[in-house]
Amino acid sequence: MNIDKNLPVMVTGATGYVAGWLVKRLLDEGLTVHAPVRNPDDASKLKYLNEIAANAPGKIRYFKADLMQPGSYQEAMAGCQMVFHTASPFRMDVKDAQKELIEPAQIGTRNVLETVDRTPSVKRVVLTSSCAAIYGDSADLDNTPNGIFTEEIWNTSSSLKHQPYSYSKTLAEQEAWKIVKKQNRWDLVAINPSFVIGPGINPDGTSESFNIIRRMGDGTAKGGLPNIRLGLVDVRDVAEAHFRAAFTAQANGRYITSGHNSSFPEMASTLLDRYGRDYPIPRRTLPKWLVWLVGPIADKSVTRKMIARNVDRPWKADNSRSRNELGIRYRPLADSMNDFFQQFVEAGQFAK
Ligand code: NAP
Repeated sequence: MNIDKNLPVMVTGATGYVAGWLVKRLLDEGLTVHAPVRNPDDASKLKYLNEIAANAPGKIRYFKADLMQPGSYQEAMAGCQMVFHTASPFRMDVKDAQKELIEPAQIGTRNVLETVDRTPSVKRVVLTSSCAAIYGDSADLDNTPNGIFTEEIWNTSSSLKHQPYSYSKTLAEQEAWKIVKKQNRWDLVAINPSFVIGPGINPDGTSESFNIIRRMGDGTAKGGLPNIRLGLVDVRDVAEAHFRAAFTAQANGRYITSGHNSSFPEMASTLLDRYGRDYPIPRRTLPKWLVWLVGPIADKSVTRKMIARNVDRPWKADNSRSRNELGIRYRPLADSMNDFFQQFVEAGQFAK
């Protein structure tokens, strides 16, 4: 798939954390980015995108659209060669998971892809899925062939009541594969990032990624962290994976985009050398019984089932497709963590 610099590309959710670096990558390439956003008049949300556009050869154009409004992406998509569908809520603190997570993810994907069907210029859709569409809890690894998550695996353990965000991502990706199979004019490539870290284009991001790092520096987790193992990937590497998935002709299927098989305590330990003297970086690993006892009290979105199925469990994913087929070279974990933490320090978010 060659890059045609005369044809625009569309990015849904351009105001988001993951999309920010992708928009920058596209603008740096000289492309025109069509950015449908919920509120194109909200100058504060567009400030950082405008800044990167001002320093890049490409151009950005805003449109008004909402995942829950069928047809609302039509104007932004017209004439585009490529659609990057990143928009989907990533939050844990929801009251109504059906309305706040599942519907925007699943119905939103349907709305965007139905518009792709009606837009002849689009050749490929790159969907921001997630490792959450591959697994729901670390315990799922027990039933996974060879004890490693691969692109062959689908999340079957999440539901509206248990890990609803992961459920929303699973339903959304399944919806996308169902729709693409009905035709052969455009194809679909899914990027499945693990937990994304690293500095945001917008330093005040609302993605759940920011909450976890915030707790490592603001004292909330100074007593210690549970031994939850997970995959981690730098936001800049995720952007590059999206870019290459779009413009590598042979790219196909799903790509686990995950740099490191890691854990919460290991994430915190990468910060100790540089920030350990001045900030309350967690140093202890909490015993599972203690997490089981106080976890749900300390954080209402945490359940005992989540703790039982995720604490002190192994986690391992195979990132070889992304390395071999997209050529992604993942940056060191300590670089992503320290760059991310430094952004909070510079924004004055942590008291010393
Ligand atoms: P984010 O910063 O909260 O971005 C979410 C984006 O979705 C925002 O641009 C938001 O727009 C948009 N959005 C939400 N509801 C919408 C609606 N009803 N209509 C139109 N746009 C809507 O979160 P993120 O972490 O960057 O997540 C972006 C994508 O990456 C999601 O698909 C997420 O599942 C995926 N992902 C994230 C991670 C991670 O660790 N962060 C890992 C794997 C996959 P507003 O600015 O208007 O709110």
